Amino acid sequence: MRVKESMVGLTPYQPGKPIEEVKRELGLDEVIKLASNENPYGCSPRVEKAIQEAFKDIAVYPDGYARALREKTAEMLDVTEDQLIFGNGSDEVILILCRSVLTAEDNIVTATPTFPQYRHNAVIEGTEVREVPLTDGVHDLDAMLEAIDEHTKMVFVCNPNNPSGTYVNAKAFETFIEQVPEDVLVISDEAYFEYVSAEDYPDTLPLLKQFPNLLILRTFSKAYGLASLRVGYGVGHPDLIRAIDPGREPFNTNSMAQAAALSALDDEEFIQACHDKNKQEMKKYEDFCHNNGFAFYPSQANFILMNLNKPGGEIFDYLLSKGFITRNGEALGFPTSVRITLGTPEQNDKIITELTKWLV
Ligand SMILES: *Cc1c(COP(=O)(O)O)cnc(C)c1O
Repeated sequence: MRVKESMVGLTPYQPGKPIEEVKRELGLDEVIKLASNENPYGCSPRVEKAIQEAFKDIAVYPDGYARALREKTAEMLDVTEDQLIFGNGSDEVILILCRSVLTAEDNIVTATPTFPQYRHNAVIEGTEVREVPLTDGVHDLDAMLEAIDEHTKMVFVCNPNNPSGTYVNAKAFETFIEQVPEDVLVISDEAYFEYVSAEDYPDTLPLLKQFPNLLILRTFSKAYGLASLRVGYGVGHPDLIRAIDPGREPFNTNSMAQAAALSALDDEEFIQACHDKNKQEMKKYEDFCHNNGFAFYPSQANFILMNLNKPGGEIFDYLLSKGFITRNGEALGFPTSVRITLGTPEQNDKIITELTKWLV
């Protein structure tokens, strides 16, 4: 048996190191994972009860249409229910989109470095990926526009961008989408939406009326703290959603995930508190960089990419020896940087103390 040509040379997603493995290897009692941008405060306390209630129906297939979650999400976003597609994580929405739309004759345009799943899914479909380097850590939308040709099917704007944390502002985004040909889909991946505080961050939902070629991605994995349950969604024009929906598995989001997400939407205070704490904690890392002359990208997300002028692997190993799993910048396209997911105040204080001892 041979896999299709486009699969040759691909490697599975490399997750952050598992906590148990690190504890065993280094003989540490406590290891904190700050590598995948999960919420260090967990999820809303309402979720536990919602999951317990959903448990009684565990033997029954879930509602593939996710009706209750769909109604509530549509109401919250002020869109119609047929504008939504739910996925087993927004990762799956990217997969559904790629398998439904892309062929070997097409290309997509992305930034680089950016979230790797756009590229990965497109490559499996045999599609060319046109990667446009970030400028100062931000999407170069002019160059991305230039990269579009008659074979381009999609352009991905990761906003804020993972791994840089930077964002494309409203004016830049609107100027961009106005110039993108109507038959090219613009995907605004807003996985960190709840953390953003920049006033000029694009308000993309109202743009859906004007741009039927816009698809917005959001997730319950990051600020909502439900990463293990896998639920995210896309918001777009009903015709687009209808067209890609057959590419979705019948029961792609499970009952626990739907119930958890539904209850999490009710707890706006939890999201607000996480947003506020994240912003406060971000300041500590920014101050650390400013005070010690390290470059970093200003981040609107719950992680920060800092250039500590040492090989990423060394920074990673050092922090690992102190009980923190982070992301080696070498694997992210920033060879002398580390990407750290913001933890609790105590965790961040400890990291900054350790880095200061080591580097200053
Ligand atoms: C984490 C992340 C996602 C994936 O989230 P899931 O909903 O858990 O699949 C999508 N896009 C970006 C940019 C992310 O960082």
